[in-house]
Amino acid sequence: MRKISWLFVLVLTLSLVLAACGGGSGEDSEGGTDDEGSGGEEGTEESGGDSGGSDDGGTEAGEDWVENITLLTGGEAGVYFPLGVALADIIDANVDGVTATGVSSGASVTNAEQLNNGEAQLALVQNDIAYFGAEGINMFDSPLENYSGMFTIYPETIQLVTVEGTGVESVSDLEGMRVAIGDVGSGTEANATQILEAHGLSVEDINAQSLDFADASTNLQDGNIDAAFVTAGTPTGAIQELSASADVRLVNMEQDAMDSLMEEYNYYVQQDIPSDAYENFDSETTTVAVQAMMIGSNDIPEDQMHEITRVIFENLDEVANAHVRGEELSIDTAEDGMSIDLHPGVQSYYDEQQ
Ligand code: GLU
Repeated sequence: MRKISWLFVLVLTLSLVLAACGGGSGEDSEGGTDDEGSGGEEGTEESGGDSGGSDDGGTEAGEDWVENITLLTGGEAGVYFPLGVALADIIDANVDGVTATGVSSGASVTNAEQLNNGEAQLALVQNDIAYFGAEGINMFDSPLENYSGMFTIYPETIQLVTVEGTGVESVSDLEGMRVAIGDVGSGTEANATQILEAHGLSVEDINAQSLDFADASTNLQDGNIDAAFVTAGTPTGAIQELSASADVRLVNMEQDAMDSLMEEYNYYVQQDIPSDAYENFDSETTTVAVQAMMIGSNDIPEDQMHEITRVIFENLDEVANAHVRGEELSIDTAEDGMSIDLHPGVQSYYDEQQ
């Protein structure tokens, strides 16, 4: 390990100040899907990790390291997005020679596919979906063999959201109703299908609409839909926002249905949503949850993945600051609910911490 000199610190500080003056931190402007290049100045695309790339005693970049890392999240009104942007920022600022960017996406299923195809290098996904992908079952035609596990973070509760006046008081009430089932290719969509089935319904029995959390929330508010499935950590931005202006209700799952779900699919656990999860709620909601986790491409060399893992676990305060669920990332629970094999670089980091 090298000791950093004061001269180096000075140069680093100066370069960071210059980068800040030069029009944004890169990952913020690229964090959204559609505001890229708002500054328009040349050089913006280089304002990421390369300028501030070195770190306190980190491994030097290897020749085979992947220089540009895309971290797939979910829709902007979810929890993956703020957390993923923070995780990318940590990598960008601390891994030598690497630029990392958190981007919004359709979430778990499409994230797993895109990672497998080499279109991205890191992604947040549900542990159930990561498993289905690795095994090539359910929505996946064949095993996705090019990603591995990194860490699990927090429970993502299946929230069936409605507003006062729709008459939706149980899952069975959804028959014939207009229901948002998540974005196309989301984990939410998969959970919605399984939950309907566990309650004796199918997607054909409802008027299903593929909407991301933000659109589902707006449509609930405007009375265009009756309910929405949301698989995400609480508080979920979209529901929080809706609860500030509408009388939001979360619907309880039935115990028998939850039992059969947990029996059929390994990764559901029973997890109630506390009454203080959102404004103006006065009772707990009975539901199930899966785990949010991070996966990484097997194209990332072992020593680079070790370094990525190290910088994340050494900057946990930044993850916690991005969203309250980020507080749950901890090395002690990183393998709880892990549904697939760990990346060798992650495994070697955990082995060292024993
Ligand atoms: N778990 C959700 C999904 O894969 C995304 C959650 C989020 O964006 O926070 O559909």
